[in-house]
Amino acid sequence: TTAVDTTVFTDLESEVRSYSRSWPAVFASASGSWLRDESGRDYLDFFAGAGALNYGHNNPVLKRALIDYLAMDGITHGLDMHTVAKRRFLETFRQLVLAPRGLDYKVQFPGPTGTNAVEAALKLARKVTGRESIVNFTGAFHGMTLGSLSVSGNATKRAGAGVPLVHTTPMPFDNYFDGETPDFHWFERVLDDAGSGLNRPAGVIVETVQGEGGVNVARAEWLRGLADLCASRDILLIVDDVQMGCGRTGPFFSFEVAGITPDIVTLSKSIGGYGMPMAVTLFKPELDVWSPGEHNGTFRGNNPAFVTATAALEHYWSDDALQRSTLRKGRRIEEIFANLSDSFDGVGCRGRGMVQGLVFDDPGKAVKVCGLAYDDGLLAETSGPSDEVVKLLPPLTVTDAELDHGLSILAEATAKVCA
Ligand code: PMP
Repeated sequence: TTAVDTTVFTDLESEVRSYSRSWPAVFASASGSWLRDESGRDYLDFFAGAGALNYGHNNPVLKRALIDYLAMDGITHGLDMHTVAKRRFLETFRQLVLAPRGLDYKVQFPGPTGTNAVEAALKLARKVTGRESIVNFTGAFHGMTLGSLSVSGNATKRAGAGVPLVHTTPMPFDNYFDGETPDFHWFERVLDDAGSGLNRPAGVIVETVQGEGGVNVARAEWLRGLADLCASRDILLIVDDVQMGCGRTGPFFSFEVAGITPDIVTLSKSIGGYGMPMAVTLFKPELDVWSPGEHNGTFRGNNPAFVTATAALEHYWSDDALQRSTLRKGRRIEEIFANLSDSFDGVGCRGRGMVQGLVFDDPGKAVKVCGLAYDDGLLAETSGPSDEVVKLLPPLTVTDAELDHGLSILAEATAKVCA
């Protein structure tokens, strides 16, 4: 094996590096559910680009589409001009995603990444309503730019940025009080308390499952209650589906489980499908109050990503096979995690579809489990406010054998740490 040379990273790259500290290899290539480092060692990737690789690394169908596009000198940078690649994406998105679900949304390309989609959503909610504040939830994560960070409930991530810029009203996420308090007790109280000055926010931003927050799952009935509350008080409901969208929890949109129609939806991560930056903000047509160029940016239209996004929709979303296999594989993870939680004290589990968390009462244990898993060739990350949750986000295309292999590594690591 080659000696791992990481000097240029440690000497030149900022201390802000994070994942590289847990996984100190130098990766060279990737295929499907696997990453290979430069010494030739293979790692099963159950983090999948933090949810950006739902269709796996270098998915052959998407790769073919991309190679063909580049071979014909397809446009790579087209600002937000009309292009053939963008037209195909919009038509396909309407035909395979919006129409079958009876959804009527305008599509905005707000910039390259998830946080850009969130910024556009927040700005639009404020512009439409003429109101300022945004309701956000404990444990939320919406991105690292100042607006998105303002509505995130993560003290560590906020620490460096100082005071939030967006006027927020933080509320408890589902089950924050372990079922002791009625669902919207605080929320209704604050909304109806005119003296607080917090009544009538512009919008509410919510994840259906908090990924970074530690795989906190909002129940469908809680989401419906939230949607009803927003509708009854003329508050815009923003569902941030950056991590849970594109099939992660089963259906294309994670909010489908609750049968709700958010006013605004954000997508990024796996929408481009091939791991290239792409983001989308969707909103009800009557909310399209933007003036031309009012929210612009150089990288609003990543044409190669439009091509792979279109190929992914055509290949994976013209029927419900992916959704069914995601739910089936999710149940397999649930089963193994439930066994682990029955077998060891201080271990619990929660999740939906193919986002599943193994929850440790002692945060140090979750970090140790991921460390041991890495030694055995499995990449899995922790999440949650104290890194107490091992969060699994395998590619949705993972094979049953790969899934079982990864789960056995994780089970062994858990047994070692908890014995
Ligand atoms: N929203 C959610 C729910 C996320 O999980 C993330 C990223 N983890 C973001 C927004 C921000 O996306 P990006 O990192 O692409 O800016």
